[in-house]
Amino acid sequence: MRITYACPACEATTSIDGIETRQTLDCAACAAVLPIPADAFADRSADTRPPRLQRCLVCPSLELFVRKDFPQRLGLAIVVAGLAASCVAWANRELVITFGILFGTALLDVTLFFLMPDCLSCYRCGARYSGAGVTAPGGDPASGGREFGGFDLETHEKHRQLVARTKQLTSDPTHPPR
Ligand SMILES: [Zn+2]
Ligand SMILES: [Zn+2]
Repeated sequence: MRITYACPACEATTSIDGIETRQTLDCAACAAVLPIPADAFADRSADTRPPRLQRCLVCPSLELFVRKDFPQRLGLAIVVAGLAASCVAWANRELVITFGILFGTALLDVTLFFLMPDCLSCYRCGARYSGAGVTAPGGDPASGGREFGGFDLETHEKHRQLVARTKQLTSDPTHPPR
């Protein structure tokens, strides 16, 4: 399993592979070390199934959501390129080609989206987890198995406000938030 996260100390984006077998996350930029909590994975010792992530490793959040491991910049680049090409075709009065390009662009985006694997993302700190085990069935809830769902706006808003409040606290200690 691979993690991509913003280092809490220096905010550099770091990617680390094989996190299920590691004890710590080490930032490549500033060498800050984050210990991986002992309860972070279920089935860590099972050899039949990949270990399943139970919580965020970077922040204390237990809430993650499933999303497509789709590079947003690539998606945007395809749309922009398609729009630009269709504008050129439109300017040349190539009606069929104009709509062909627009349709093709949309189709390419949708196809890529479905081909891309799922990954898990942390609501609070935005850390992303990809690879085997991230979307495996959560297992037995009685033994602490946790299964993550899709994006939930309410949960997102809760964490957004929490982060904003924490920032306010740390940046302006003389005016505690109400
Ligand atoms: Zn760092
Ligand atoms: Zn997090």
